[in-house]
Amino acid sequence: MLKRIDHIGIAVRSLQETIPYYEKTLGLKPSAVEEVESQKVRTVFFEIGEVHIELLEPTSPESPVAKFMEKNGGPGIHHIAFCTDDIGEQLKQASSNGCRLIHEVPIEGAGDKMVAFLHPKSTFGVLTEFCAAK
Ligand code: ZN
Repeated sequence: MLKRIDHIGIAVRSLQETIPYYEKTLGLKPSAVEEVESQKVRTVFFEIGEVHIELLEPTSPESPVAKFMEKNGGPGIHHIAFCTDDIGEQLKQASSNGCRLIHEVPIEGAGDKMVAFLHPKSTFGVLTEFCAAK
Protein backbone atom coordinates (compact mmCIF):
# COMPACT_ATOMS: atom_id res chain seq x y z
CA MET A 1 0.00 0.00 0.00
CA LEU A 2 1.21 3.52 -0.74
CA LYS A 3 1.71 5.52 2.46
CA ARG A 4 2.33 9.06 1.29
CA ILE A 5 4.28 11.12 -1.18
CA ASP A 6 7.90 10.74 -0.13
CA HIS A 7 9.51 13.25 -2.43
CA ILE A 8 9.38 15.15 -5.69
CA GLY A 9 12.46 14.77 -7.88
CA ILE A 10 13.72 17.77 -9.81
CA ALA A 11 16.32 17.53 -12.57
CA VAL A 12 18.99 20.26 -12.40
CA ARG A 13 22.16 20.96 -14.36
CA SER A 14 24.17 21.85 -11.27
CA LEU A 15 23.50 21.27 -7.57
CA GLN A 16 25.91 24.05 -6.73
CA GLU A 17 23.90 26.56 -8.78
CA THR A 18 20.51 25.32 -7.62
CA ILE A 19 20.98 24.72 -3.88
CA PRO A 20 21.09 28.46 -2.99
CA TYR A 21 17.59 28.94 -4.42
CA TYR A 22 16.13 26.25 -2.12
CA GLU A 23 18.36 27.12 0.82
CA LYS A 24 18.39 30.92 0.75
CA THR A 25 15.35 32.00 -1.28
CA LEU A 26 12.99 29.36 0.12
CA GLY A 27 14.78 28.91 3.44
CA LEU A 28 15.02 25.09 3.39
CA LYS A 29 17.84 23.07 4.88
CA PRO A 30 19.81 20.80 2.52
CA SER A 31 20.90 17.26 3.39
CA ALA A 32 24.41 16.10 2.59
CA VAL A 33 25.07 15.60 -1.13
CA GLU A 34 25.07 11.94 -2.10
CA GLU A 35 26.14 10.20 -5.28
CA VAL A 36 23.82 7.45 -6.53
CA GLU A 37 25.86 5.33 -8.89
CA SER A 38 22.97 3.22 -10.15
CA GLN A 39 21.28 6.36 -11.52
CA LYS A 40 24.47 8.29 -12.39
CA VAL A 41 23.34 11.29 -10.35
CA ARG A 42 24.30 13.38 -7.37
CA THR A 43 21.38 14.22 -5.12
CA VAL A 44 20.48 16.49 -2.26
CA PHE A 45 17.23 16.49 -0.26
CA PHE A 46 15.28 19.35 1.32
CA GLU A 47 12.67 18.49 3.93
CA ILE A 48 9.26 20.17 3.98
CA GLY A 49 7.07 18.51 6.58
CA GLU A 50 6.78 14.85 5.59
CA VAL A 51 7.71 15.51 1.98
CA HIS A 52 11.12 16.14 0.45
CA ILE A 53 12.38 17.86 -2.63
CA GLU A 54 15.14 15.83 -4.30
CA LEU A 55 17.48 17.66 -6.65
CA LEU A 56 19.18 15.43 -9.21
CA GLU A 57 22.33 16.45 -11.03
CA PRO A 58 23.59 14.04 -13.72
CA THR A 59 27.17 12.82 -13.33
CA SER A 60 27.36 11.54 -16.90
CA PRO A 61 25.72 12.27 -20.27
CA GLU A 62 24.48 8.66 -20.04
CA SER A 63 22.51 9.45 -16.89
CA PRO A 64 18.72 9.07 -17.28
CA VAL A 65 18.48 12.57 -15.77
CA ALA A 66 20.78 14.01 -18.47
CA LYS A 67 18.64 12.35 -21.13
CA PHE A 68 15.49 13.71 -19.49
CA MET A 69 16.83 17.29 -19.65
CA GLU A 70 17.95 16.82 -23.24
CA LYS A 71 14.49 15.61 -24.22
CA ASN A 72 12.57 18.20 -22.21
CA GLY A 73 14.68 21.23 -23.01
CA GLY A 74 16.26 21.65 -19.56
CA PRO A 75 15.73 21.34 -15.83
CA GLY A 76 12.32 20.72 -14.29
CA ILE A 77 10.14 18.27 -12.37
CA HIS A 78 11.51 14.80 -13.08
CA HIS A 79 9.53 12.35 -10.94
CA ILE A 80 7.17 11.82 -8.05
CA ALA A 81 8.03 9.23 -5.41
CA PHE A 82 5.55 7.31 -3.29
CA CYS A 83 6.57 5.70 -0.03
CA THR A 84 5.50 2.09 0.42
CA ASP A 85 6.42 -0.71 2.78
CA ASP A 86 6.45 -3.28 -0.02
CA ILE A 87 7.92 -2.25 -3.38
CA GLY A 88 7.60 -5.77 -4.76
CA GLU A 89 3.85 -5.78 -4.10
CA GLN A 90 3.46 -2.32 -5.73
CA LEU A 91 5.38 -3.47 -8.80
CA LYS A 92 3.23 -6.58 -9.04
CA GLN A 93 0.05 -4.52 -8.80
CA ALA A 94 1.30 -2.04 -11.42
CA SER A 95 2.45 -4.73 -13.78
CA SER A 96 -0.75 -6.76 -13.47
CA ASN A 97 -2.65 -3.59 -14.40
CA GLY A 98 -0.70 -3.28 -17.63
CA CYS A 99 1.90 -0.81 -16.42
CA ARG A 100 5.37 -0.92 -17.95
CA LEU A 101 8.12 -1.19 -15.32
CA ILE A 102 11.57 0.37 -15.62
CA HIS A 103 12.80 -1.83 -12.76
CA GLU A 104 11.43 -5.35 -12.32
CA VAL A 105 13.18 -5.50 -8.96
CA PRO A 106 14.10 -2.63 -6.62
CA ILE A 107 17.55 -1.02 -6.89
CA GLU A 108 19.63 1.03 -4.45
CA GLY A 109 18.43 4.62 -4.26
CA ALA A 110 19.49 7.75 -2.40
CA GLY A 111 18.99 8.14 1.35
CA ASP A 112 19.61 4.46 2.12
CA LYS A 113 16.38 3.40 0.38
CA MET A 114 15.38 0.84 -2.18
CA VAL A 115 13.61 2.27 -5.21
CA ALA A 116 11.90 1.18 -8.44
CA PHE A 117 10.42 3.22 -11.27
CA LEU A 118 7.37 2.87 -13.50
CA HIS A 119 7.71 3.92 -17.12
CA PRO A 120 6.19 7.37 -17.84
CA LYS A 121 4.58 5.99 -21.01
CA SER A 122 2.37 3.89 -18.72
CA THR A 123 1.76 6.59 -16.11
CA PHE A 124 0.37 9.42 -18.23
CA GLY A 125 3.66 11.23 -18.53
CA VAL A 126 4.71 11.23 -14.87
CA LEU A 127 7.83 9.20 -14.08
CA THR A 128 6.76 7.37 -10.93
CA GLU A 129 9.02 6.01 -8.20
CA PHE A 130 8.23 3.65 -5.35
CA CYS A 131 10.60 3.84 -2.41
CA ALA A 132 10.98 1.95 0.83
CA ALA A 133 13.41 1.82 3.70
CA LYS A 134 15.95 -0.99 3.38
ZN1 ZN B 1 13.54 9.99 -6.23
